[in-house]
Amino acid sequence: MKKDNVELICSISELSNLFKGKANIQGFLSKVTSTIAGHMNCDSCSVFILDDLTDELILEATEGLNKDFIGKLRLKSGEGLTGLAMKEEKSILEKDGLDNPQFRQIEGFGEEAYKSFLAVPILSGLSKIGVVVLEHRQKDFFNINDQLAIKAIASQLATTLENVKLLISIDEIKVTEQRIVIGNLHIKGIATDSGIACGKAFLMGDSHNTIFLNAEDIEYGRDLKDFEESLGNTVLQVEELQQLMEREHSDVASMIFGTHLLMLSDSSFSGEMLNLINTGDEPAQAVVTTVNKYISIFKESNNPRLQEKVQDIKDLGHRLLRNLSHKVYEEGDYSQQIVVARELLPSELIKITAQDAEGLVLFGGGATAHITILAKSLGVPIIFTDDRRIFSITENTEMIVDANQGHLFINPDKGTKRKYERHSASASISEEEISRIKETTATEDGVSVKLLANINLLSDLKNAWLFKAQGVGLYRSEFPFIIRNNFPSEEEQFQIYRKLINDSPGDEITLRTLDIGGDKILSYMKDIEEENPFLGLRAIRFLLKNKNILITQLKAMLRAGAGKDLRIMFPLVSSLDDLLMAKVVVRQCLEELKRDKVEHNSTPRIGVMIELPSAVMVIEEICREADFVSIGTNDLVQYLIGVDRSNDHVAWLYTAKHPAVLRALKAIVDGALKTKCDVSICGNIAGDSKLVKVLIGMGLRKFSMNPVKIPIIQQAIESIDTEKAVQMTEELLKLGTVSEVEDYFRKN
Ligand code: PEP
Ligand code: MG
Repeated sequence: MKKDNVELICSISELSNLFKGKANIQGFLSKVTSTIAGHMNCDSCSVFILDDLTDELILEATEGLNKDFIGKLRLKSGEGLTGLAMKEEKSILEKDGLDNPQFRQIEGFGEEAYKSFLAVPILSGLSKIGVVVLEHRQKDFFNINDQLAIKAIASQLATTLENVKLLISIDEIKVTEQRIVIGNLHIKGIATDSGIACGKAFLMGDSHNTIFLNAEDIEYGRDLKDFEESLGNTVLQVEELQQLMEREHSDVASMIFGTHLLMLSDSSFSGEMLNLINTGDEPAQAVVTTVNKYISIFKESNNPRLQEKVQDIKDLGHRLLRNLSHKVYEEGDYSQQIVVARELLPSELIKITAQDAEGLVLFGGGATAHITILAKSLGVPIIFTDDRRIFSITENTEMIVDANQGHLFINPDKGTKRKYERHSASASISEEEISRIKETTATEDGVSVKLLANINLLSDLKNAWLFKAQGVGLYRSEFPFIIRNNFPSEEEQFQIYRKLINDSPGDEITLRTLDIGGDKILSYMKDIEEENPFLGLRAIRFLLKNKNILITQLKAMLRAGAGKDLRIMFPLVSSLDDLLMAKVVVRQCLEELKRDKVEHNSTPRIGVMIELPSAVMVIEEICREADFVSIGTNDLVQYLIGVDRSNDHVAWLYTAKHPAVLRALKAIVDGALKTKCDVSICGNIAGDSKLVKVLIGMGLRKFSMNPVKIPIIQQAIESIDTEKAVQMTEELLKLGTVSEVEDYFRKN
């Protein structure tokens, strides 16, 4: 019988209008499949809709195949010809589907009788909606015109089906509420070189989880006395946690558990629980009711600082309940847990690591994002992914985070678990390896190279000593500002810098002035809202605009550096003018300290971070005016290539193995050597053993890095012959494409 494609397109356009009314989803989809099957005179027509959460195609309607499979048949992306059409976003036309090795026979579905196969993806802009599949008993039944007609229908239906898809997903949430259990799922994430963690999922702060529930099916104390005891124990525990933080992270953790303590001492919070108990509620119920009430007050507040406290209130609720259960908890609240979150504030990161979280999975971000830098300092493996399936897992699902390679395993199978158990047993650095680290480093041919530490938190100094850093090449002074609730005073800053200077190994200490803006946002400065924060009021620009903050910081640094070799460095300098303006402020501070007879360092060395292309272009001018320069490749790569360092959608473009980056590095080192300016490198690539040879070849002799990287870099340097390194650099600098550079590194 003749196929009538034009008539079919007309019928479908009528149909899609019909759905604008109140058509029911199943009825609508079944009408679509029967209309297409009828007009095309084919034996079967099926519509699959993509479930974004699981990335699976679900059969939603069929004419001609077993209808019992509706809603149950799920195909993974790339699975069978239908899955392939979705994955590759292209139509598949087969004279006989069975001839294609990708064809997948599904027992009982009824396809065995059919031969001709046509699958067409339904796409709406960048969204994948689903696939429409046609089949016929006769071989070679469909032709290219049919394919074009179904493509036209698919695009005609796309918008309507996008709405259908939305309704289906809302329905699924309503019906199931609980999440799906995914077996042995591997998700590729962004590697951050921060270690490996195994644990159970803890879903933080997503929409399913903003209500606090008493999930544990255990016995709780039942009377007022039990509640009062639980309250007392909770206060003691939180105070202890706060004291621990003050000891370990005095620089950043000032009153980090402040909200917890404030709430506990607020009589309306505990008082409300008491009232509920007195009017007949069980203590556990009273805790749940009150915590939920406060969560909704905080969430609905216009004040973002209060909104941020929702997790604190939930933590407190958990702690009160646990104490009420009289269960003995020796470990922290997040022990053996992997925290899965859309995003995390630096202060939350500190809190969850204080409570023993094993690892972190965040939605979006990058290897050089500042939350990663902080997580590394805190020793927590962190991985980023833009795969939404992480939000569909149930709490307590087993997970492995391999942040070194960028793998995330959900409900891993036994083999994967064994592999990672073996790995974690051999991961930590042995005493013997530590004892092999030398105090100084030199290349094979005896050229000496200085290895320094990047310090983010004062607690990093432990590793700086352990791994024998020869000084501090970069102190990122912003973390105390980011994590605390307000600007630290000059005195508070002085105490932090003094401790850093006194406790650092080596004689060289470089303090960087505040680098906020970009992805380092201060929650207490919400009046600055920018469309493009990385191109905005960041670092030196912010400080030159807010001179009081710069003056306070500089005075604290100058005071702390009294009697030492103090180096002060300015980040994100875009011109010689920036440096000259900053030096005027340094001079002003020196004069004021002298006038006020305050002990200080009167001859600090002033340096510049080279991390903007504009600074590279005027490198000689900057070097003539600066006492030293340090190359910040984390930013230099982002600004040279125009790729946001914390955006995982473009992470594949973010690479130092780019001819432009290599040439810029060479230009900086040449400019510094020509003007006899001290030059070092402190971006992440300083700790990349694959790049160290080319950096030596360019003439760099000073590397500052996460101190844990020192042993591997020292080893790499010891096997470098500088002459050969120069040769390698010359060869590399001639290459014009990223792939040639990558190839070169693979082979050498
Ligand atoms: C850099 O940009 O390379 C750098 C070291 O600074 P930060 O990562 O703090 O921006
Ligand atoms: Mg930088």
